Amino acid sequence: QARAELKSVQQTARTSLNEVRKIVSSMKGIRLKDELVNIKQILEAAGIKLIYEEKQTPASISLLNENILSMCLKEAVTNVVKHSGATTCRIDVHQQWKEVIITVTDDGCFKGTEQYFSKGHGLLGMKERLEFANGSLQIDTENGTQLTMKMPNESKIKEKEGSK
Ligand code: ATP
Ligand code: MG
Repeated sequence: QARAELKSVQQTARTSLNEVRKIVSSMKGIRLKDELVNIKQILEAAGIKLIYEEKQTPASISLLNENILSMCLKEAVTNVVKHSGATTCRIDVHQQWKEVIITVTDDGCFKGTEQYFSKGHGLLGMKERLEFANGSLQIDTENGTQLTMKMPNESKIKEKEGSK
């Protein structure tokens, strides 16, 4: 009886693992290149001029980290549209040796408080996601709003495996 039950447990575990694999492989996430296309449309619809020099988007970054950057970029631009009152928005993507740096700068006016990362909001979510991947978020609100997102090229998981 014990053997039969173990067999059934094993079967359930196998099925579950297969399900998880299927789910993970269908979660493709969005590439920076594609997100930039969406962003262009969002800013255009809002009547905000986009200044962006089209370059090759980072190639050395992991897919997970790229997805995180895409999500953060989208949140940053959504904020520009919702809150800034800006006429222009500038996006720069710099590929450096160890990290990818994206800045989003608008010429509007920051409407929030000094507590940038208050609970349950977009800015906090961005910061948490970037830090999860060993990156960082910086905010400067002196002249309009400038967000600086940094993301290491190496993924967290790879680094951990390498240090074993
Ligand atoms: P949510 O992102 O959850 O929809 P939210 O946009 O209000 O809500 P945050 O993204 O955390 O929250 O932003 C916090 C506040 O900072 C905003 O309510 C707004 O007042 C101000 N803010 C953020 N980005 C800008 C910006 N680009 N220009 C002007 N004000 C901004
Ligand atoms: Mg927001």
